[in-house]
Amino acid sequence: MPAQSASAWKGTVMELNKLLRKNIRDLKPYQSARHEFSGRANIFLDANENALGSVAESGQNRYPDPFQIKLKDKIGELKNVPAERIFLGNGSDEVIDLLIRAFCEPRRERIMVLPPTYGMYGVCAAINDVEVVKIPLTEQFQPDLPEIEAALNSGLKLIFLCSPNNPSANLLDNDKVLKIIDMFDGLVVIDEAYIDFAGNEGWLNQLDKYDNLVVMQTFSKAWGMAGIRLGMAFAHPEIIIILNNIKPPYNINRHTQEVALKALGESDIKNKYVDQLLKQRQRLTQALKNLSMVQRIYPSDANFLLVKFNDPGKVYQQLMKQGIIVRDRSRMIRCEGCLRITVGSAGENNQLITVLKEMDK
Ligand SMILES: *Cc1c(COP(=O)(O)O)cnc(C)c1O
Repeated sequence: MPAQSASAWKGTVMELNKLLRKNIRDLKPYQSARHEFSGRANIFLDANENALGSVAESGQNRYPDPFQIKLKDKIGELKNVPAERIFLGNGSDEVIDLLIRAFCEPRRERIMVLPPTYGMYGVCAAINDVEVVKIPLTEQFQPDLPEIEAALNSGLKLIFLCSPNNPSANLLDNDKVLKIIDMFDGLVVIDEAYIDFAGNEGWLNQLDKYDNLVVMQTFSKAWGMAGIRLGMAFAHPEIIIILNNIKPPYNINRHTQEVALKALGESDIKNKYVDQLLKQRQRLTQALKNLSMVQRIYPSDANFLLVKFNDPGKVYQQLMKQGIIVRDRSRMIRCEGCLRITVGSAGENNQLITVLKEMDK
């Protein structure tokens, strides 16, 4: 990591208030039934639940913990981040939406994204009627600092960086990210959905140095828990308070909290999956290199490969005929000719390679 330097926002409530939308700054949040009560009780007649039980599994008749205290404590332990710096969302996608809603005044304020990148930043902005400033990554898929600097202004509230980036698969350079954090007065959101596959710690351990930094991670990729919808945001405690104020009170359901809590005790299984997928990534890369139809395989710090083909449309169609679905990214900027291929199991990768070899003859 680069040496410490001062960030623009100093973490005071007053400074944060200048960044927030006025309606959010003035909001009186919904108080759920369980908000007001912190003592011990064994009869709960406050939330209109079914006192007799649940048609589903036992326990599901009760609302979940709105602040997911146990889960955050456990995540905090694993990631070495205090619970007051953790926010949990119904997938990272909820976090993206909440950040835009909290900070960007519709039609007047903007977010910045660096294409080619994850589509949800732009979709959430569009849903919120917030404008998107697009500054393409360089040919090396790195932030274009002069162009970014030239586009900064007071109406720009959030910059979304994705590292490792989807779909280019690479980590963004630390020194470039740091320059962006330093020169921007708004919040820099670093989406680290694929950080477990990168030989790099990411930005979590830099949180207390940079108050305008938000790091997002997810249980959907390395942890293999896309089905339970659980995303994480790590940031200054004042930012976490705002996100808590505007989220739906019970955004993380009881089942998700229970499943995640159990899984967190078994992070060695996650690490084994990561090892295996990294080996498969290596194997797949080697096999693809031997095909004449493949022009280029971009270096990957994630669980997918961006691959440039002579005729991506034909490859895509042929694979689909064989029941293999990949992602066509050939119409995205700087991804001309490219398909994005998720690293599968050994058997799945074998089948993929067999089909491609057959086509290559
Ligand atoms: C897959 C992915 C996510 C995960 O989103 P969830 O809503 O947590 O499933 C987030 N960001 C990027 C860049 C991704 O590719």
